[in-house]
Amino acid sequence: MKVLAVASEVFPLVKTGGLADVAGALPRALVREGVETRTLVPGYPAVLKQAGPFETAHRFDDLFGGPARLLAGEAAGLALFVLDAPHLYGRPGGPYAGPDGAEWPDNAQRFAALSWAAARLGRGLVEAYAPDVVHAHDWQGGLAPAYLAFEGGLRPGTVVTIHNLAHQGVFPAGLLDELRLPPSAFAVEGVEYYGQIGFLKAGLYYADRITTVSPTYAREILTDEGGMGLQGLLRARGSVLSGIVNGIDVEVWDPANDPHLHVRFDAAHIEARSANKAALQDRLRLDRDPDAMLLGVISRLSWQKGLDLVLETVPAVLAGGAQLALLGAGDRQLEESFAQAAASHPGRVGAFIGYDEGLAHLIQAGCDTLLVPSRFEPCGLTQLFAMRYGAVPLVARVGGLADTVVDASAAALASGQATGVQFTPVTRAALEEAILRAAGLWQDAPLWRGIQAAGMAATVDWSGPAREYARVYRAAAEIP
Ligand code: ADP
Repeated sequence: MKVLAVASEVFPLVKTGGLADVAGALPRALVREGVETRTLVPGYPAVLKQAGPFETAHRFDDLFGGPARLLAGEAAGLALFVLDAPHLYGRPGGPYAGPDGAEWPDNAQRFAALSWAAARLGRGLVEAYAPDVVHAHDWQGGLAPAYLAFEGGLRPGTVVTIHNLAHQGVFPAGLLDELRLPPSAFAVEGVEYYGQIGFLKAGLYYADRITTVSPTYAREILTDEGGMGLQGLLRARGSVLSGIVNGIDVEVWDPANDPHLHVRFDAAHIEARSANKAALQDRLRLDRDPDAMLLGVISRLSWQKGLDLVLETVPAVLAGGAQLALLGAGDRQLEESFAQAAASHPGRVGAFIGYDEGLAHLIQAGCDTLLVPSRFEPCGLTQLFAMRYGAVPLVARVGGLADTVVDASAAALASGQATGVQFTPVTRAALEEAILRAAGLWQDAPLWRGIQAAGMAATVDWSGPAREYARVYRAAAEIP
């Protein structure tokens, strides 16, 4: 079976969040399921730089405002189509926003073009390439199933995966024509979304199958609280919606073979983590204190992630003798607040504001507890990395966090199943209580060791999820 994936980011070429991890790792795992994936990505400068000697598979005279080339080749072990459209992607900055943090004003055209190219590929644009399924990730690929549906005749099956319902790609209705959407599609039963054009909405309406990244999130998005305006459509499409928990790339995230660590280790040598803890303390200018429980955070700084609550708990954390190590970027206010917390509590709070893949690995290897207090979390990856690295995740009981971490209840501890600490509701008081509970467990070294060992033994790779995606693809393509 052949699948064309459409993604606005793919690790290791370009990444801002979990979507890139998924788009980068799933194709490799799908090979074992007999699925051959090719991924269509925008030709951002960073992608083109790594896209080696690619061949030109097609030339567009006018792709939403300028000429473009479709390049085909392999990079970082991934089979790729790269959409080289300088007028859309050839600029410094991030995939969605400029260096000043402001969203690109032409994001509608940029990602409509990506989806349009995907639909053309699905219709046989490139000779000898005929995918059975087009798999669109998030709103950036959302129009692909729509463009495919507008024409009659045979077409590939379509799947849309929701990585985060908070980002929906909503644009003015006046763009309809420019985005090559037929007037008849501007309807509730089409691309229309509260008087505007909804890219994700369109994908959810037209796709044959819909997935999201955990079973709990698949249920949460059907509710008025969690549906972010799309709950009605999602409920109507409930029979084709399923939740598949993300895996992680266990080769990239392997503590026994990780170049970013001070000391590599495995489950039989968990004690070697203490050298990484010391290295992490040094790196973030924390006191070298083996007896302080070290709390880690690796996160986008946004309201979703609940990190304002972490700031509020800093006094309690410090009073309990613990330390905090944060790596994050995003919301300016949160960035400043964490930088300030570090400045106010030298040796006890360390913050690196920015994006640093290597430091993310070292935090996982060196912290005792990784905090993930998200208000909502479709799947979450950092808690999975944490388990694999012997850091005990302390998570809000929402979405994929609820599905992947087993709370250290008395029963779970007794049966050796506990892999972390969950808390609910997502409030400062509940977070503080959970940190206290974790501290209590941490004091009991053998008990803690058991939780670490259960986490390190948990199955977090892509083999199970890949099997489920293959099943969804077969259903979308009506392949028995
Ligand atoms: P989301 O996609 O909502 O940001 P996930 O937990 O699914 O959250 O994925 C986050 C990914 O981004 C993880 O791979 C995490 O390690 C990484 N990450 C987040 N912030 C940073 C940062 N400042 N530096 C390095 N990696 C980061």
